[in-house]
Amino acid sequence: MKAVQYRKVGRPPEVVEVPVPEPGPGQVLLKVTAAGLCHSDLAVMGWPEEQFPYPLPLTLGHEGVGTVAALGSGVTGVAEGDEVAVYGPWGCGRCRACAEGNENCCPHAVPLGIMPPGLGSPGALAEYMLVDSPRHLVPLNGLDPVQAAPLTDAGLTPYHAIRRSLPKLVPGSTVVVIGVGGLGHLAVQLLRALTPVRVVALDVNKEKLELARSVGAHETLLSDAEASARLRELTGGLGAEVVLDFVGVEATLAVAAASVATGGDVTVVGIGGGTLAVGLGGGLPFEVSACAPYWGSRVELMDVLELARRGLVASHVETFSIEEAPAAYERLHAGDVNGRAVVLPHG
Ligand code: NAD
Ligand code: ZN
Ligand code: ZN
Repeated sequence: MKAVQYRKVGRPPEVVEVPVPEPGPGQVLLKVTAAGLCHSDLAVMGWPEEQFPYPLPLTLGHEGVGTVAALGSGVTGVAEGDEVAVYGPWGCGRCRACAEGNENCCPHAVPLGIMPPGLGSPGALAEYMLVDSPRHLVPLNGLDPVQAAPLTDAGLTPYHAIRRSLPKLVPGSTVVVIGVGGLGHLAVQLLRALTPVRVVALDVNKEKLELARSVGAHETLLSDAEASARLRELTGGLGAEVVLDFVGVEATLAVAAASVATGGDVTVVGIGGGTLAVGLGGGLPFEVSACAPYWGSRVELMDVLELARRGLVASHVETFSIEEAPAAYERLHAGDVNGRAVVLPHG
């Protein structure tokens, strides 16, 4: 089968021919119908050799949707032909966090060597993929696979980030969304579907700002040196109750710090390498909470898929064949993908 692999640190990803994997005991083999490309894949491919944490070659893709193709011994609860989305942040399945569905917070995954598909384990950018347990599969129940693939990360991650701030998202509050790409365009829709807040979206690219408006942002601003002053103005000098930063570089974190209100939340989702100083006298208003969340829970993935089924959120996608995946990554790197790039391994 064809797979998109990162084979050598510093080299671009390649489409290669590899054997179709066989499901071992407890595993499920999926025929992949759609797989999303995430900016985190570019971050991974930018890491230096001495810090690179995963075995190579690595089949990329941590946003996967597929049809159950074969079951390993002992697997129950799913059947061949079922259409499912893959919950990616795999945990040990036995601890308290995992029992609550928060496998993204499993403290045992790293020590046990359990790695998400596409982020250590073979991922979804292939014609077939292995899933380690049927508990990682969430039924699509009629949802379009191309729509669903981005929801497993680009939808789930902002949903998880927004949920922690829900008590602050009351009528009259303002939320700033910095970076309206794959995650950001879904964040705008999730905020509109779940809350009565005013959404202000920031990006460096005018087309992304147009997308932000078309999916529900009330205001859009170019992310430049004047952005924080304009945000202050828009909030009557008080600042925004919540800032969601989907970029996470020094410049956007400075905008976040300068535009959050007293008692507000700064949530840094982007892995741009910037840091935010927290501490009295450190530049943030009093009582601000800062968080760098990771992905989301299995239950939250169920919620996001249900929001899509009800037509409350929709992924804006551009589709590619598997051969086009390396070029699609180049486009993502250049900032030329509006919404999410989704690869269809079987055309
Ligand atoms: P993307 O490339 O689709 O979108 C990024 C957007 O940010 C683009 O629209 C780009 O124009 C915009 N941007 C770039 N520089 C900017 C600036 N200075 N100010 C404002 N906007 C700017 O990326 P994505 O796939 O949506 O991922 C967003 C970030 O979230 C990435 O850093 C990714 O690695 C990270 N991520 C984190 C998690 C997590 O669990 N924390 C999960 C998924 C992705
Ligand atoms: Zn991702
Ligand atoms: Zn666990």
